[in-house]
Amino acid sequence: MRATSAVVRSVQHDLFGVIGRPAGHSLSPAMMQAAFDILGFRACYLALETDDLAEALAVLDTLGFQGLSVTAPFKQDVMKRCVQVDAAAQRIGAVNTLRRTPTGWEGRNTDWLGAVRALERFHPLRGVTALVFGAGGAARAVVYGLMQAGAHVVITNRTEDRAQELAAALECSWVPLESFERVRPQVVVQATSAGMSGRPYEFHVPPDFFLPHMVVMDIVYAPLETPFLRQAKAGGARVVDGLEMLLYQGIEQFFWWLNRPAPEAAMREALRRAARHHKGKA
Ligand code: NAP
Repeated sequence: MRATSAVVRSVQHDLFGVIGRPAGHSLSPAMMQAAFDILGFRACYLALETDDLAEALAVLDTLGFQGLSVTAPFKQDVMKRCVQVDAAAQRIGAVNTLRRTPTGWEGRNTDWLGAVRALERFHPLRGVTALVFGAGGAARAVVYGLMQAGAHVVITNRTEDRAQELAAALECSWVPLESFERVRPQVVVQATSAGMSGRPYEFHVPPDFFLPHMVVMDIVYAPLETPFLRQAKAGGARVVDGLEMLLYQGIEQFFWWLNRPAPEAAMREALRRAARHHKGKA
């Protein structure tokens, strides 16, 4: 296992981190360290890269790490390593947050809360129709969150079978990708990896689909302005970029670990600064 960001400054610091493969690109260390620093906590948040999740968790437990964010490809595998997993994470089928307890790691999912809180700043979700593009792991968390918030959710996905399976599992609706325009949503979430830097963007959205009453979120955050969001903005919709979901899932993690409200403004600023820096390096 490699710690790829900072080094542990002192054994007197509380230890947190993000575990993944890769992990060095993660924006979470910048966001979380800013939160600890502004509140004057003696805590370190590290990027932790490993090929062997079980071994890494044992080592981090021994070292006294108190909390971990979990990223790809471990969000499903990590569930087996938890002594307890909350009901939302079980339904979503993924854990993105761990907290150390005397008996072992406890797991939960904050991605769904991140999506809901990012959207609710712009539009109440109860009773709205929400269209979600995607049927992968992130889409599953987004759909679960929207449903918990009381939205009527319709899924669409490039691979139809996966849309159908997700709709059946979470008990919402789905439409084939060719006919998503028939849905008249107030909220639209792009929850696929289409439009990520270096990946093709394959959605053919008619120019008049996006309307000014809509709130449109793309959970991809590299680039920040995706082709999907550009088109939504051109249609007059209010747009929410993927950093907002990342911010609010992090705020929920912070609260779970420390039982204290997170410093939202400082975290947002650090996250946006890190994203600009990252883009400069790419
Ligand atoms: P995943 O499980 O691999 O699912 C990928 C999804 O994207 C599937 O629905 C797939 O469709 C679709 N897809 C991929 N390439 C496509 C293309 N070129 N055209 C149309 N659809 C395409 O991945 P994931 O874990 O859900 O992650 C998806 C994205 O969410 C990633 O970019 C990730 O970085 C981002 N994410 C953001 C946050 C945040 O906080 N902002 C949190 C988690 C994830 P098929 O089923 O047809 O293959």
